[in-house]
Amino acid sequence: MSSLPVLVLNSGSSSIKFSVYEAGNGDRTKLVEGAVDGIGTDQGKFWIKDATGKKLVDQTPALPNRAVAFKLVADALHSGDFPAPKAIGHRMVSGGPTVQENQFITPALIDEMESYTAFAPLHTPIAVYIMREALRLFPGIPNFVILDTYFHRTMPEVAKHMPIPAEYAAMGVRRYGAHGVSYESIVYQLQPNVPEKLIVAHLGNGASISAIRNGKCLDTSMGLTPTGGIISGTRTGDIDPGVLLFILRKIAETATSASDAADKLEVVASKKAGLLGVSELSNDMRDLRDAIKEGNAKARLAVDKFTWTIAKWIGSFVAELNGLDMLVFTGGIGENDIASRAEICTDLGALGILLDAQRNDVRGAATISSQTSKVTVRVIPPAEDLIIVNHVVRLLGQ
Ligand code: ADP
Repeated sequence: MSSLPVLVLNSGSSSIKFSVYEAGNGDRTKLVEGAVDGIGTDQGKFWIKDATGKKLVDQTPALPNRAVAFKLVADALHSGDFPAPKAIGHRMVSGGPTVQENQFITPALIDEMESYTAFAPLHTPIAVYIMREALRLFPGIPNFVILDTYFHRTMPEVAKHMPIPAEYAAMGVRRYGAHGVSYESIVYQLQPNVPEKLIVAHLGNGASISAIRNGKCLDTSMGLTPTGGIISGTRTGDIDPGVLLFILRKIAETATSASDAADKLEVVASKKAGLLGVSELSNDMRDLRDAIKEGNAKARLAVDKFTWTIAKWIGSFVAELNGLDMLVFTGGIGENDIASRAEICTDLGALGILLDAQRNDVRGAATISSQTSKVTVRVIPPAEDLIIVNHVVRLLGQ
């Protein structure tokens, strides 16, 4: 295959991130990256920078809706100032039970994935919207969906299956996991020396953790949706179902319909809980660390809950893997929050995990375990766009 520019699209609730790679036979060169951020506000941000970090576009446009935001991206990429994409890869959290493979996007496939919006309710609506817009605004260019659930497809049935009545399992209710493209990128970066027993903690605004054996997912913390698993910025993580029933009954007292009650419960569990819910202050780790310095007890409790839960999951994954060779931290908190890494590892000495305080005092890629640690502990930033480009190139060749 000759070299061609591949556009990677990664859409969130208030932003669209993108990058363009020149992809040839083994070559992957990032040409530009950018984002439209602050969708739904009068003064958003639209920027594009080159591979050296030089800003080529730096604007603060009004971004009333997604249509305006994505048109800015499409117009810039059609302007002739940047390499026009010849293929597009879309990051997608979940395609539901019937769309498990990364593949060529057709309008029918978008409809099918949209029918499983309940499997990633905060992510799917914007992703399918951007796919439809990309088919319209970049006619004649092949589009591919790259799924976060793809990496987790190797989990054994015992990890995937949920303890629910069979009729719901038959509707596709099971553990799918998320952040799969990030996990895949960590395994990719560790090649050719992928440890047999690996745990990766992707700690960002959304947070999850995976047990990986010989490069393949064995288990992961997120469940049917990204709300399950460990506590994260605004999400509960795993919780006694009785808590959700208690809250649902409270909400039902004033809800206008069953679906209104379900929507409100979803807001509570996914947008108002987690670090934000416990701290009553912020879902942003930097704010919480600042507040802790000022003696804020609720911020302290929220962060303790976060690190304690992650340590518990690491312990259970070590049991599942029957040992551990390497622990990797990634994501905004995993890469940058020195204190969280230290707090998570503090009580894990019995499992052979020992940090070196000086080595841990870094932001970005590093080995942070001590010489005597039985487990290597590393910080590795994810390379998600690269993985998406790799899949697009593979699928174009088929
Ligand atoms: P997302 O899941 O939205 O992609 P990120 O991976 O960007 O999120 O992670 C966002 C989180 O990373 C926030 O909680 C933020 O506070 C945290 N973070 C980013 N930089 C730092 C830093 N220097 N110190 C501590 N936390 C940080």
